[in-house]
Amino acid sequence: MNKNRITGEILETNSKLKIGTHLSVAKGYAALARDAVKIGANTFQLFIRNPRGARAKEINPEEIEAFQTILRNHNFTPFIAHAPYTLNLCSANQHLRELSAQMMAEDLKRMEFMPGNLYNLHPGSRLDQPVDHAVEQIAEGLNQTMFPEMRTMVLLETMAGKGSEVGRCFEELKSILDKVELKDKIGFCMDACHMWDSGYDIVNHLDEVLEHFDHLIGLQYLKAFHINDSMNVRESHKDRHTLIGSGYIGEETIHKIINHPLLHELPFILETPTDLTGHTEEIRRLKEMYRWDKQMDQYTGF
Ligand code: FE
Ligand code: FE
Ligand code: ZN
Repeated sequence: MNKNRITGEILETNSKLKIGTHLSVAKGYAALARDAVKIGANTFQLFIRNPRGARAKEINPEEIEAFQTILRNHNFTPFIAHAPYTLNLCSANQHLRELSAQMMAEDLKRMEFMPGNLYNLHPGSRLDQPVDHAVEQIAEGLNQTMFPEMRTMVLLETMAGKGSEVGRCFEELKSILDKVELKDKIGFCMDACHMWDSGYDIVNHLDEVLEHFDHLIGLQYLKAFHINDSMNVRESHKDRHTLIGSGYIGEETIHKIINHPLLHELPFILETPTDLTGHTEEIRRLKEMYRWDKQMDQYTGF
């Protein structure tokens, strides 16, 4: 293990794997960045506001400066801000739909204080509205809130299909993409647990799943990956994440995903139910599994 001789900080081997976890911002942005360094991450995800509520913390420029200095000093790659779960651009209730668009617009403005990062959202829950109607509303919400000068990439997440979630299949995501105006500012985030739970057999047919995505949407739109194991069988539509290697997806598939020639350069974010110590261990194991460090830019095979 390498240690910085002055600060005593543990320096991770310079892995090219872009890896991090979802982290709490409860103690502030700078504390979050220090946690990320501590667990050996070089990226992360955070909730830009209370995930279940609407309140957002005031931006404190000094705090953001301290946060960004830590990220710069430790060669962090772009991070993901996750939209709150309450944000629903296709709510059947017009007031909630407008409130969601307002929240997202505020979030995107806030992101301009930290340019060059990613903003990930769940497309929405449509209740008993038809899918095409919901797709219309989602695209409308995105077109209202995204703006040409923004320096953030908006990502739509692949969903497990729990309840009436939109984005349960690539076709639904594609139909949203088709209606988005600023196509250079939109992308997608695959979630391993969600794809598995929605029915995609990433365990036995990862290549085919990626091919399908590429054919329909284009892999150039894939910008991030949530690397979670699933507590449930394929097509369960449950959305219960579990630790890498302890679910139905399994370590072998996780290994294949992070090393896949078409995926290995993406940022990988763990959303597994454990603490900082557990995440340190998961990150260490993923770095160990990563093959692209061994030989410059040469992929060394599974
Ligand atoms: Fe999510
Ligand atoms: Fe996710
Ligand atoms: Zn999930």
